[in-house]
Amino acid sequence: MLPPFDPWLTSCVTLDVAAASRASEAALAGRRARRLADLLRSAARGSALYRKLLAGRDPDKLRLEELPIARKPELMRQFDEWVTDPALRLDALRRFVADRTRIADPFLGRYVVWESSGSSGEPGVFAQDARAMAVYDALEFWRRPFQRMMDPWSVGERIAFVGATGGHFASTVSIERLRRLNPALARSLHGISFLQPADRLVAELNALAPTVIATYPSVAVLLAEERLAGRLEMAPRELWTGGEDLSTATCEFLQQALGCQVVNSYGASEFLTLAAECSSGSLHLNCDWAILESVDESGRQVPMGEAGATTLLTNLANHVQPLIRYDLGDRVTQRASACACGSHHPVIEVQGRNDDTLRLGGADTRMVRILPLAVSTVLEEDAALFDFQLEQQGPCDLVLRTGLHGKSADASLRRARAALSAFLVQQGAAGVHIHCRSGEAGRRSRSGKVQRVVAAPA
Ligand SMILES: [Zn+2]
Repeated sequence: MLPPFDPWLTSCVTLDVAAASRASEAALAGRRARRLADLLRSAARGSALYRKLLAGRDPDKLRLEELPIARKPELMRQFDEWVTDPALRLDALRRFVADRTRIADPFLGRYVVWESSGSSGEPGVFAQDARAMAVYDALEFWRRPFQRMMDPWSVGERIAFVGATGGHFASTVSIERLRRLNPALARSLHGISFLQPADRLVAELNALAPTVIATYPSVAVLLAEERLAGRLEMAPRELWTGGEDLSTATCEFLQQALGCQVVNSYGASEFLTLAAECSSGSLHLNCDWAILESVDESGRQVPMGEAGATTLLTNLANHVQPLIRYDLGDRVTQRASACACGSHHPVIEVQGRNDDTLRLGGADTRMVRILPLAVSTVLEEDAALFDFQLEQQGPCDLVLRTGLHGKSADASLRRARAALSAFLVQQGAAGVHIHCRSGEAGRRSRSGKVQRVVAAPA
């Protein structure tokens, strides 16, 4: 079954996205206002939750900040009232994403579905129709800085995505969807699991020799170190990063070690490509289709140039599952200054996704690097543990804590320890002690966010 794709709609949206890439601030604001009113109208019409919230309000006059902040746990609890299609039921969606043989299958014949990781608690499930996918496709392929890669059906490339390939995650679903939609592209797009030991990952990349690697900064650093050690024999022409913070120093290290261009982007399960890097190296928000508000702990907007405690997303593309002032959990700073590239899309800086790579063993044994996202994937997928912090306290000592209490927490931790131990052994890190603690919330970093994977101080 082909995943949802509407060629006519995609052509129209692509033309608009191309035009808006060079549009003035006023033209962008006009698009935003029109699309916000459309979103509010369709939410009031189709979503029982928003029908109550928006009763008696005029979508053309309503200011966004008059609406309450929406948070994932509450929305997921009221899922069936939240969505605008009553045929979308959370229990059926949960069964669908639990079946790994159905990645990128159309749900009810018309929705692309993925789940988020549980970095802020329970995993979310997100349904997109052909209209939302047309916007994501157009933004993904038109707002990249290099003309060479702007052709979505390019067949001269070998693009490897290195990440969690076994679940219904946004990146994996997106790749599988493109592969099914275009058999020619299927030969150039490859998913490579980051759950395998580093030597196998490197061997797979050496054999494939991709021209583009798309992955997380922490994985890219591991690959750069493997390249410097002489084990990774290939180097891509471009490295696309996203999903975690990328500091200037890390970016320079990657460029030097891999000898390639690094292109960063910022996305989420709630909006696939929120911002992409321009040729001047700035991240530009796709402000024609997404609204981001930086707010402090009380939910008040912070002045331009300051990072708030969190960021609220309003997704103007997805009318099926309205995301209006949705708490993303990241800290985004919007820069007031214009970018040298001439774009009027605001320049943003993102903080808030900065887990550590663990380096286990050392003195008498081989040092093994463990990727933070791999740890999260194992604990979430194999042990269904979402509320956790894993802190390294010595070369072979880890503390796994959860804020959960009681017998179910202890059972959950036992399952998690078994899954994590098996994973560490598979990675070559044997003899690691995992101490479990329930009823103990993860310690917060200076930014106030719980870091899920914390390495021992260097
Ligand atoms: Zn720019």
